[in-house]
Amino acid sequence: MSVSSDQQIELKLLRESTRKFINKEITPYYNEWEKNQIFPRELWNKMGQAGMLCVDVPCDQEGYGAPFRFSAAITEELAYAGACSLAIAVSVHSDIVTPYVLNRGTTEQKNYWLPRMISGEAVGAIAMTEPGTGSDLASITTSAIEHEDHYLINGAKTFITNGQHADLTVIVAKTAPQLGSKGISLFLVDTLWPGFNKGRNLDKLGLHASDTSELFFTDLKAPKDSLLGQAGSGFAYLMQELPRERLIIAALAVGATEGMLQWTLQYVSERKAFKQTLGQFQNTRFKLAELKTSLEINRAFVNQCIEQLKEGELDVATAAMAKLSTTEMQGQVADACLQMFGGYGYMTEYPIARAFADARVQRIYGGTSEIMKEIIARSMLGK
Ligand SMILES: Cc1cc2nc3c(=O)[nH]c(=O)nc-3n(C[C@H](O)[C@H](O)[C@H](O)COP(=O)(O)OP(=O)(O)OC[C@H]3O[C@@H](n4cnc5c(N)ncnc54)[C@H](O)[C@@H]3O)c2cc1C
Repeated sequence: MSVSSDQQIELKLLRESTRKFINKEITPYYNEWEKNQIFPRELWNKMGQAGMLCVDVPCDQEGYGAPFRFSAAITEELAYAGACSLAIAVSVHSDIVTPYVLNRGTTEQKNYWLPRMISGEAVGAIAMTEPGTGSDLASITTSAIEHEDHYLINGAKTFITNGQHADLTVIVAKTAPQLGSKGISLFLVDTLWPGFNKGRNLDKLGLHASDTSELFFTDLKAPKDSLLGQAGSGFAYLMQELPRERLIIAALAVGATEGMLQWTLQYVSERKAFKQTLGQFQNTRFKLAELKTSLEINRAFVNQCIEQLKEGELDVATAAMAKLSTTEMQGQVADACLQMFGGYGYMTEYPIARAFADARVQRIYGGTSEIMKEIIARSMLGK
């Protein structure tokens, strides 16, 4: 890993300050937020003030100019603390939405949105998935019809992370439906514009404190200057940003897995059965050894991918491998650790139960495991 010693110190300091913030501002309230199925909007502003949002936006855009590795570390720390709802909310905002604005936005779009996103004044969401289509993105039906000085957007989206809190939503819509994926465009839409309607905050199996919403667009007038980049290039932009999106999900998986292992180590060292601690049974020891090995291999691969991303060399298939491998690992570790907790593992007051439920969706969003396998196989076999 080519990280300078200065950078390693800075990274350590960032991790420490993030842990302090989590201990003070998140952990004491997290159970309540999970029950409420949303965390307070003000937390975004607090995270902004603490310098936890969009940390790799360059300094000339009022950002901190940190490498992506730092942004990944924030996600890892949130997941490690068992706050996966926040880890995904922040990742979508900082690592999935922000790069579209940064890499494709006009100077005006960047100047308007980036400082607000860094401070937490504006929360970001991305609306790709529709009730009728998810994996098959080219089949979306949301339309954006060009008029003299605006586009008229109509359609419905679902499963949108940060959908309730969002101030900015990147809407994926068809400006030329007859052209299939080549007719897809992206829009930076202010959620206060008339015609933008937030639907239900959906009731999920896990990640309860992360708001996930339906969105409806009814004759939503999007000014011409809300178009991101070129009309018809939206699908290409999505493909270009996908490696980073998948890599941040992989980093989340590594952080969450490390957290689960820590809690389990502590538990098996204390809990006794048959006059010994659980950790003295060979089965427990071997299982933990396997899980740790799997974690370290996955962590090394994620670190390699982070380096490749920095050099502009992370391809779609390699990022898909990272997402596939780490999220499958997270699921297996969650299951194995929960088993070591016995009946307590099934009780929601134990963080491992929540981590088990939270892990499940990691294999679905950002592209399912099956789609990851398709991408990897395509890179090996061609079409
Ligand atoms: C909690 C949560 C948060 C989310 N956040 C967002 C968000 O912020 N923005 C957003 O746009 N979307 C978001 N999503 C949507 C998510 O990305 C989609 O659910 C996902 O891409 C799968 O699409 P789908 O649900 O329509 O499933 P489908 O595409 O209908 O797939 C159903 C099943 O068929 C399989 N399948 C589909 N095609 C193939 C194929 N070619 N080969 C083999 N198997 C296949 C899939 O793997 C899956 O198992 C979120 C989802 C959840 C659950």
